[in-house]
Amino acid sequence: MTSFTPQFITELKDRIDAVSLIGDSVELTPSGKSYKGKCPFHQEKTPSFHVYPVDQTYHCYGCGAHGSMIDFVMHQKGLKFPEAVKMLADLVGIPLPPDGKQSRYTPKELNKFRLLYSTLEAAADYYQKTLADGSAGLKYLESRGIQQEIIEKFALGYAPNAFDSISLALARVEEQVLLDCGLITQSDKGKSYDKFRDRVMFPIRDMRGRTIAFGGRVVSTDQAPKYMNSPQSLVYNKSKCLYGIYEAWRSNASLSSLIVVEGYMDVIALAQHGIENVVAPLGTALTLQQIQLMLKYCSEYVLCFDGDDAGATATWRALEHGYSLLKKGQRIRVVRLPKGDDPDSYVRTHGVEQFHELVEKAPNSSAYFFNELQAQYDINDPEGQSAFVERARTVINEIPYELYRDFMFRKLQDIVGHDIPILGLRDYPSVGSRTTRELSSQNNKSTDRKSKRLKVGERNTLRSLVHNMDVVPLISKKSMNSISELQKESLIFDAILRIRENELNNFAQLLASYENNSPEHRYLVQVAESAPPGLQETGLRDPLLNAIDTLIFRFKREIARRDV
Ligand SMILES: [Zn+2]
Repeated sequence: MTSFTPQFITELKDRIDAVSLIGDSVELTPSGKSYKGKCPFHQEKTPSFHVYPVDQTYHCYGCGAHGSMIDFVMHQKGLKFPEAVKMLADLVGIPLPPDGKQSRYTPKELNKFRLLYSTLEAAADYYQKTLADGSAGLKYLESRGIQQEIIEKFALGYAPNAFDSISLALARVEEQVLLDCGLITQSDKGKSYDKFRDRVMFPIRDMRGRTIAFGGRVVSTDQAPKYMNSPQSLVYNKSKCLYGIYEAWRSNASLSSLIVVEGYMDVIALAQHGIENVVAPLGTALTLQQIQLMLKYCSEYVLCFDGDDAGATATWRALEHGYSLLKKGQRIRVVRLPKGDDPDSYVRTHGVEQFHELVEKAPNSSAYFFNELQAQYDINDPEGQSAFVERARTVINEIPYELYRDFMFRKLQDIVGHDIPILGLRDYPSVGSRTTRELSSQNNKSTDRKSKRLKVGERNTLRSLVHNMDVVPLISKKSMNSISELQKESLIFDAILRIRENELNNFAQLLASYENNSPEHRYLVQVAESAPPGLQETGLRDPLLNAIDTLIFRFKREIARRDV
């Protein structure tokens, strides 16, 4: 009889996202502080089934079904408690305790999590109090027109211009904890000092409203850099968080769209003008995980980066990522600000009305996409034309929403002015294309699922894998067993096994292990040519390992459905 400690169950519940778990099988729409959809447990025409993301629970006002995410899985799949726990642990990538008795984290480690959260909270309180005290930070915010209400809403603070203020303020907290929180840092000689000095402090909060990190903007001294973020920590993975999303969701739980800007001050300045659906990535390009986070709360986002070259690059990058996740009903739009403007300066000079208008009239991403590419290539000569087509179809090929992908491809053909020969987008690696059929008559392997069209999750994970092959030895024994069983299901599992068994070190070796010009060979080349997705950030656990485990889970689920 398997039993789990309460710590393990708590840890599991902490990692599950109710909206995405249930959203997998139930179509959910935002409704106040919850999400609603048609109850999967009784027949109904109007939705009365609610999911509460803050509590991670569900409740049906029609049939009374109610419970945690574990209850949901038990009820939906007819599983017993331990089975449901195992399935969910698999899904979120937490290894089960070896003897079913221990949490992956020892009580000591779990205690550390709690200590980090409470320390970060205490630090936020301290910075807030310091700001209110007639600080240079408050003067700075006032000079930017930021008023008390917004300062409170975002819990803005000020870190004094001293080397020991946070360690004095939190004197009862061990130095190691302050280091783990990223509040202090150490010199080469091992002397600790405040990481944030003379900075306006922006607490970064998770969707439960817990402070998990800080951003800081320098105020009166000429310290570099102007903006600084907390380092990654046990509780903070910068590629998975967005500044302002918690506050945006708090202001309006049924967000229809989000505006993505570059920095903290843009979020704050727009909020001061009553525009509250604004988020900013944390000193990185917009990552896949950040886009996924937004799409949990709304179906449309508007990219509104600075009107300079860096902003244009960031927009393009975000668009490439955005397209690789685009599903039916979702939309991306693009605002390009005049040269030299950022959202903050634009609102100050042109007023909020004009900003609204700019956002409302923002073109769909497709218009921006083709304009931007056409500006880069001379499509009147074959060289420019082929480069243009290559570049465009690499991105279009990744769009999971088929109808949209089709129309984008047609649009591409319209621009070029004639049919694009052989490079039919769905030509490879889908089943039934001539090449695949020809090959499958010679080679039985090609009839395996792995030579069929790969789903977007597989494609991104595979791409990340070929750029980070050194992660393979880190795959757990249990996952490796599953991968062996699933070898024929996907090229990625096959590749992992080859890397592991033959101790392959680089992409060239992996490629060489496949027959030249086989569908697998060609597909790997195609995948490796495009930039890896934003999976490489290191956090609590390598995101690539999580992605592989998620794929294992998805395939097992698909097979279970197939077998029913
Ligand atoms: Zn019901």
